[in-house]
Amino acid sequence: MRAVALDAAGAARLVDRPEPEGAGRLVRVTACGLCGSDLEKLGGTTHAGAVLGHEVAGELDDGTRVTVMHRVPCGRCNRCRAGHESTCAEFALIRIEPGGFAERLRATHTLALPDALGELDGIWVEPLACVLRAADRVPRGRIAVVGCGAIGLLWVQVLQRRGDEVFVSDPRQERLARALALGATPAGGDAEAAVLTAHAGLEAALAALAPGGTLLVFASPAPAALDAVYRRELRVVGSRSATPEHFTAAAALVPELALPPVDVLPLDRFDEGVERYRSGASLKVAFVP
Ligand SMILES: [Zn+2]
Ligand SMILES: [Zn+2]
Repeated sequence: MRAVALDAAGAARLVDRPEPEGAGRLVRVTACGLCGSDLEKLGGTTHAGAVLGHEVAGELDDGTRVTVMHRVPCGRCNRCRAGHESTCAEFALIRIEPGGFAERLRATHTLALPDALGELDGIWVEPLACVLRAADRVPRGRIAVVGCGAIGLLWVQVLQRRGDEVFVSDPRQERLARALALGATPAGGDAEAAVLTAHAGLEAALAALAPGGTLLVFASPAPAALDAVYRRELRVVGSRSATPEHFTAAAALVPELALPPVDVLPLDRFDEGVERYRSGASLKVAFVP
């Protein structure tokens, strides 16, 4: 079958590889979303041979439409019980073989999708699950969402639905306009919490916070001075990835949301999709095998 795998230099190559074997159910991939965490692995030499992609919309042999959980916490260890499931030792195991940028994969943890979901919309379950889990760490009230990419647009809607007043900022006007069209307001200060969804933007997030406010770090941030954390007694929390419970909640919620536009490309145009995502020309890219 065809798949996009990293070569020894970390470049993505369309390759022919054996059908996936081993544990789990066989899933025919309908589409797989490109995630910022996939980009971090491109160009590195530590993932040679790996097939990336974990935001999967797929189908089982019997026609059931599913998404897959590529990492699953044990649910019993101290890390899990403390609510930091993504740092559980078992969470490090990858549960899909080989990965989402392939025609087929095997997955030990699949989740059936609601009928109301559009054909490719299963790609949103994993990112939305991550947002839902992180939202549990965000206090209610006036919340600043920094970065209005696809993830920022999901955040706006999740926070609005629980009754928060949502402020948004993004240096790119067309992205900001999408968030405003959802009913968010342009950046205001004095926020109870700020959600950092972009690599750049830590300073903007800190500036938006009221004294004692909470910064939620939801993307790997560029270095910035943390003086404001000291001066204004801010709280900093991180959240990464999701649990099976959040996957289930996200699958039910996806049909209710205004989903950001997706550029859908075939696997043999992988590099072009990466470039579109990196340059910001696309809010979201998905590949179909
Ligand atoms: Zn992801
Ligand atoms: Zn655990």
